[in-house]
Amino acid sequence: MEARARSDRPLVLVDAAIPDGPLTALDGLADVARFADAEELERLIAERGPRVRGLGVQLTTAVDEALLARLPALEIVADYAVGYDNVDLPAAARRGVAVTHTPDVLTDATADLTWALILAVARRLLEADRLARSGQWAGWHPRQLLGRELTGGTLAILGLGRIGEAVARRGRAFGMRVVYWSRSARPALERELEARRLELREALGVADVVSIHLPLTDETRHLLDAQRLAHMRSDAILVNTARGPIVDEEALADALEGGQLLGAGLDVHEREPDVHPRLAASPRTVLLPHVGSATVATRERMAEVVARNLRAVIGGEPPPDPVPGPG
Ligand code: NAP
Repeated sequence: MEARARSDRPLVLVDAAIPDGPLTALDGLADVARFADAEELERLIAERGPRVRGLGVQLTTAVDEALLARLPALEIVADYAVGYDNVDLPAAARRGVAVTHTPDVLTDATADLTWALILAVARRLLEADRLARSGQWAGWHPRQLLGRELTGGTLAILGLGRIGEAVARRGRAFGMRVVYWSRSARPALERELEARRLELREALGVADVVSIHLPLTDETRHLLDAQRLAHMRSDAILVNTARGPIVDEEALADALEGGQLLGAGLDVHEREPDVHPRLAASPRTVLLPHVGSATVATRERMAEVVARNLRAVIGGEPPPDPVPGPG
């Protein structure tokens, strides 16, 4: 079949940060316009909004009612992330716009990064690195930079989904017991990993390491507040590679300063790109700039998922990776 004339072809707007290669899947089906920032997206919408059938965005683009209202022909928002809290799902549903995300392909990269944080906090890697570079290191000493043993300890997973499971499996390899708090029970996985499902308070109370793998929703926002942080042991470590607002950072800073927690490893932050100043000043934190899925291979696979969803919907097929529906 001959390709349609350029002006008739559907138009898809895709964030310029999303790798190019996989977007060739749209060749012959749609015109693709890339935008480097919010201003450029704005300009494209102003000029060609009514022609836009697909949108490929990263998690820093808020897809809200106002944006959707300006794209009357839009059929799909393909999020370049597994967490889709940047998209107003009810607004998209009202307009019949499909929303897709990138599950599975970033699970291992994010689980690895979670363990990098757990180990960095437990073994004081940043302090140790600074000492090794400082010119002040006086040599091996029996009491130098003593960290926290993990083998034989308890790892609490909050949200035993794809990434939570991958972190739990790695935890078993580190000789840890696994407990979890999550909406759905995972009986087969419980048997395989000898894991126990607990109430949140109990999971927080028994854990040496608490690792958060929940989506950001109305229910999980500030789930880890002052009261819940107080349930954690004073020698425990909190790690968050999910979404920043799940932790009340002000309360976390108080807990760390008050010695209620041993340390925290955070890849995600409540007000990105701002980092909480008291957490930044704390010797008990390891802070990363939201790099959970940042490997070359994973970012390429995420782009493939974005492309296959755009291709399917623009081609009249159901999307392969829709975000879960309500309930
Ligand atoms: P997932 O497979 O959907 O896992 C989420 C888990 O949380 C599921 O087990 C889910 O239960 C549970 N859950 C959801 N809402 C809950 C609630 N209100 N109370 C208790 N449990 C609840 O998602 P994933 O692929 O593992 O990703 C998890 C999150 O990680 C994403 O949402 C994203 O925000 C974040 N993430 C961050 C990075 C990074 O760069 N740092 C990278 C990738 C992902 P059900 O099984 O009942 O749904």
